[in-house]
Amino acid sequence: YQGLAGRSANEVLQLYAAHGQQMKLQRSSVVTQLHGAIKKRLKQDLKSLRSFVLELSKDFQRQSKTCLYQVLAAVQGIQLQNEAMRMFQIKAFDLEQSLQEVTERYEKEKRKRKALHNSLIELRGNIRVHCRIRPLLPFDDAAGHSVSQDRRRNLSEKVAYAADDETVLVKCSRPGHASVNKTFQFERVYNDLESQDAVFADVAPLLTSLLDGYNVCIMAYGQTGSGKTYTMLGPQLEGNSAFSIEEESELGIIPRATQEVFRLISEKPPGSYWVEVSVVEVYNNEIFDLLAKDNYGKVFGVKRDVVTTREGKSDVPLLTQETVENASEFLHLVNKGLQLRVTHPTLVHAHSSRSHLVVTLTITTVVFGDNFGTSWEDEQTSQRLNKEVASTFPQKMRDNKSTSSSRPSTPVQLEATEKMKQVKTRLQLVDLAGSECVGMSGVTGAALRETSFINRSLSALADVLGAIAEQRAHVPYRNSKLTHLLQDSVGGDAKLLVMLCISPGQKYLTESMQSLGFGTRARQVQRGQVKKKTFSVPSKGK
Ligand code: ADP
Ligand code: MG
Repeated sequence: YQGLAGRSANEVLQLYAAHGQQMKLQRSSVVTQLHGAIKKRLKQDLKSLRSFVLELSKDFQRQSKTCLYQVLAAVQGIQLQNEAMRMFQIKAFDLEQSLQEVTERYEKEKRKRKALHNSLIELRGNIRVHCRIRPLLPFDDAAGHSVSQDRRRNLSEKVAYAADDETVLVKCSRPGHASVNKTFQFERVYNDLESQDAVFADVAPLLTSLLDGYNVCIMAYGQTGSGKTYTMLGPQLEGNSAFSIEEESELGIIPRATQEVFRLISEKPPGSYWVEVSVVEVYNNEIFDLLAKDNYGKVFGVKRDVVTTREGKSDVPLLTQETVENASEFLHLVNKGLQLRVTHPTLVHAHSSRSHLVVTLTITTVVFGDNFGTSWEDEQTSQRLNKEVASTFPQKMRDNKSTSSSRPSTPVQLEATEKMKQVKTRLQLVDLAGSECVGMSGVTGAALRETSFINRSLSALADVLGAIAEQRAHVPYRNSKLTHLLQDSVGGDAKLLVMLCISPGQKYLTESMQSLGFGTRARQVQRGQVKKKTFSVPSKGK
């Protein structure tokens, strides 16, 4: 403004306009600069935006590709799984089919095995001896007060061992005695740890033979306390001759054999088999019927006799035979009979070990034509048989409890179908009296009488086995009631299993050696081939 002083208005105006022009020029150049800068910046941003978008889209593409792959893989996986599932289904079907084939083959093999088993048993001869060594028990060292601690320890020392499952080793050296080191071979030897289960597993196959038409006898031999009753029945109830039915794993051969017989029967056509039971005790060479009943239905011991029939079979006329339908019925029946041993006055004797107990299962079989044993497997035959049995043998007849095993076979019903036949096979299960009585001396009175009877019956048993061994024409079955009673299941066409029971302690060395000797002799018995039961149609007049 100092420059404006003294200037004309015109000049001022001109100057002002020029200044304005200049300002305008300056502004426009700033604007231009700004514009340029903004444009540049925008361009840059756009560029980076574009590259970002590009990156983004690339990334998206990448990701969607991965996703697609994943989806594809998943689909493929599912397809594979479906495929696998189908394969599994096919495999399962195949397996099912082959299982069925195997089952069929197994059934066939089972039948073959059964036939082979029977031939094997026949080849081996029909007496087999198993030996069971019981564990040492607390009562083994109760040797009496007069005995010193040392001697007591010696007496309870173990001298009998199962060397393996076919060998018994008796090893003992006592001062003043010849040392013993002896082995005995049997078909099977059980050590002290082997269960009732294991023992029965070897017995069970014999029962198959029973339904194939063979008589079977299983007897326990050994001194008192060696485990005969435990092996045959199971642990006994306190102060009672009966045994505990509740402890299934502890059950002995008699209840298990019955269960097995009923199981085998259940595989057969219903109604074609039925089972009758008798329980007898042989005491002082007399036979007591433990199932006999008086008019009030109360059981009491009745003496019976054993006779030889015209066909040469042993029979006990008037012996009570109770029909049983299942194993538990049997167990209750036998237990009731056993309780009688202690309660009935005529039967009272010091110890159940003084008598032989014989439980007999008589299995009556209805057969069609000549079929028996293996040919039973024929489905058609058994079905036909089944139908005919149902119509020919009404339940009533089977329920009819006979009082004699020698009752006439049911000829009236049998006439209905000419080809129908009936056969009886017997399973005799025997808990023998204590064998320690053999050779015992110095007893008097009733005990002497008992002892001499046990002596005689057990030596009669040994004589019978000996006579059979030597194939003597005459076998002295009738020398004692015991052997006479067991004639059919010890003699010619039967299978006998002797279960030797051994106490392992030194105290019982003499008795154990005696039992092992008995078993060894019994094993040497070689008989002709076991004959399978053949059937005769019961005659009308019988
Ligand atoms: P036995 O009938 O030969 O006289 P027991 O069968 O009565 O002999 O057996 C005598 C005792 O030994 C019983 O108390 C019985 O329970 C027991 N006992 C026998 N054998 C065995 C065994 N293998 N395991 C366990 N205890 C046994
Ligand atoms: Mg006993």
